[in-house]
This record gives sequence, structure tokens and C-alpha cells, in this order.
Amino acid sequence: MKVITITEMDVRDLRFPTSLLADGSDAMHADPDYSCAYVTIKTDNGVSGHGMTFTLGRGTEIVVEACKSMSRLVKGERADEIFANFGSFWRKLTSDSQLRWIGPEKGVTHLATAAIVNALWDLWARIEGKPVWKLLADLSPEQLVSTVDFRYITDVITKEEVIKMLREKESGKAEREKFLMINGYPAYTTQVGWLGYSDQKVRQLCHKFLKLGFTSFKAKVGQNVQDDIRRCQLIRESIGYKNNLMLDANQTWDVPEAIEWVKKLAQFKPIWIEEPTSPDDILGHAEIARNLKPYGIGVATGEMCANRVIFKQLLQAKAIQFCQIDSARIGGINEILSVYFMAAKFGVRVCPHAGGVGLCEMVQHLQMWDFISLSGSSDGRVIEYVDQQHEHFEDTINIENAHYMPPSAPGYSTKFKNSSLLDYEYPHGREWQRLFQNGTFQKPID
Ligand SMILES: [Mg+2]
Repeated sequence: MKVITITEMDVRDLRFPTSLLADGSDAMHADPDYSCAYVTIKTDNGVSGHGMTFTLGRGTEIVVEACKSMSRLVKGERADEIFANFGSFWRKLTSDSQLRWIGPEKGVTHLATAAIVNALWDLWARIEGKPVWKLLADLSPEQLVSTVDFRYITDVITKEEVIKMLREKESGKAEREKFLMINGYPAYTTQVGWLGYSDQKVRQLCHKFLKLGFTSFKAKVGQNVQDDIRRCQLIRESIGYKNNLMLDANQTWDVPEAIEWVKKLAQFKPIWIEEPTSPDDILGHAEIARNLKPYGIGVATGEMCANRVIFKQLLQAKAIQFCQIDSARIGGINEILSVYFMAAKFGVRVCPHAGGVGLCEMVQHLQMWDFISLSGSSDGRVIEYVDQQHEHFEDTINIENAHYMPPSAPGYSTKFKNSSLLDYEYPHGREWQRLFQNGTFQKPID
């Protein structure tokens, strides 16, 4: 790669007023306004990279400030040098001797890391003229492991082991890529069961997604057990028992409460209970998993895991049967790759979290790379799908017969349309000004 220098890093606060329709509502987040901190990295050769981390509205301004604080580590750097040894740059980004005190590798600074790192991968893929899934699949095993910081996980997995795992899968890569181009990657829908939706709406949506070819459906639970029984009953009446049902409590329960509550829903044969308790409680998840195993219910979590160390311990403790990486969290692609490596070693299936803003756009690339290069299989694996906020992206996702079809445009599918930037930048975007003026939302206090 020729010499390319990063000249600028812009950060924007983008918010979408999704709370108006209760889209995305669950047991812990009753009124999310899906939002993101949006990073654009500019270079002296005219190519820009775009990345984001996902947020729920208030607080996005804090993530934006964290990105700005970290921009000194990015501006003026050589992009070609970053990509030649991305793992070292990732460590530099997460190891600033002063900034790390307010993390380290967790919370707002790590969300900011994800936004910046995702923008760098988009930049790299655009320079190479490939979608990110293809860029990842075309890297040699040695190049791929050079993007990952193995600090804190070598007790579980080493570079050498990963290279061996990747080499073992090399022979079938071309066929799997061809298969993917024709068939896509299976998706499941969460849209039937947001907690704020009426029974009638849930029923309608079940039928809509059945017609579209979906075979896996997820419902939010955890506010009232009688309501959950009623909603699970009506979803099962709509989708039958041949299709899959998953449940998601979004961290609402204590450990014993989670076990008792989910036992009451076991009659509806869910395949997993997602985020039953605090995302930091590794041993709690293990206890839940042990107790629900006889019912055939697995534990799923990961969308709010802080970093690879938490994932490592969840896997070590047999606390999860489904690993839910999130494209906008932990430290972006580099750290997410390390989670894929560990999950593969433990034989745990990765079923990515998506939805929100840009999460479907990004995570499809990672799961497709996994299919081609690492796990070599989509058996029992699905990517979450929600059909909202896709219209804001230049390269939007393409779902056919309930499958994500591989993106073909260069990059990470993360670039917003200019019109969406003008409408939804907070608080000065055109749509926000309109919502303040008509009293739907209150103007933020300066
Ligand atoms: Mg969830």
C-alpha cells in the first residue's frame, strides 16, 4: 500500500426519534432513541473511512467527546502503517497513559474506540476496493492475527493456535464464498416482540415475517410474567413449534429470579434466554445456564459485554451457549475477531446482536467472514435482523428470503447518506428542529 496519511477525524452525534413508536423497547430500555457517535476519518489521498458506535439517545454527546479526546492518537498517523500492524495500533489506541484511567477497555472510552476502529476498517476496505467481509477473508492467517491484540487472552488462545485453525479451513474457502454469494446468511427477527407493542401488532408482525420466510423469532420478556406467558402463547400460536423462539430479558433479573422466571416460560420451548442478568456477572450466567440446561434452554449474551476478557471468562465458565458479538461494541473489529477465535476454540456458536443503527450493516460482514474462514458453517447460527434505520445508509443491507446477501460495495456499509446527516444530527438537524418546534421533544438545555 502506498503512503497514506490521516489528515482529519470528524465526529457527529446522530439521533433518530424511535421512541415515538416504541421501536426497540424492552424490559430495561422503555424509550430508546436509536443513535450513534459517527466518526469520519479523512486522508490525504481523498479516501475517507466511516465508523460508528451505537447509543440510545442521551449520552451520545459523551461518546462524541471521548472520540474527540482520542483523535490525537489518530490524526497525522500513516494509514498504511496502521494496517500493516493493526494489532499494535489497537493497543496504542486503548493504552493512552492518561485516557485509560477512565476505562480501561470498557465504558465510554471503549465505545469511542469501537467507532474509530470501525472507521479505520471501512477506510482500509475502501482503499482495497473490497467489502470488509472480503478484505477479512482474503487476509492470510498471519495478516489476520496481526490485527489482534492477544494481551489478556493467551491463557485461552494464542496466535499460533489461531493460524492453525484458519489454515485447517483454507481448502473450502472458495466453495463457501460461492455458496454465500448465492444463498446469503440466515437471519432472525426481533421485530415481532418489542415490549411496547400491542398483542395485535405482535400477531400481525409474526404473520408478516413468516410470509417473508423467517424461521426464527425473538420476543422481549421480563416486565411481568403473566404478560410474558400471554405473549409467548400468542407468538407460538402464530409461528407454530417448528420455528425457533428466542427470549430476551435485557439484564432485568437477579440470578435466582431469572431461573424461576424462565422455567415458567419453558413450556414455550425457547432455544435461548438472552441477557438474563448483569452483563458483568460471569458466574451468575453460568448458574443460570446450569439450571436451564435440563429444559433445553441455552444462555445467550454479549451485546453489552465490556471486552474480550469478559467473553473469555463467559466461555471458560460454560456460561453461554450462544455468543452474541456486537459490531459497535468492545474495541471494534480487531477485538471482535479475538472473540470469534475464542468461541471457535470452545465450540460455542456466534449469533451476532444487531438492529439499532448500523449494527446489521456492520455485523453481516463479520459473520460472513466467519463462515468463509473460521467456523466454516452457519448451522445453528443466525444474525439478528430488524428492518429499521436502513434507509439512512448509502450501502444498505439486502435481505432475501430471510437471508443477508453479501454486500458488494467497498467498505463496512457504514456511510450515512448526506440527507440523513442533515436531518438527524443532534440537536441542529432539520428533523430535530421540527420536533422541537412542534413540541414533540424538548430542546436540550445548553
Ligand atoms: Mg438483546
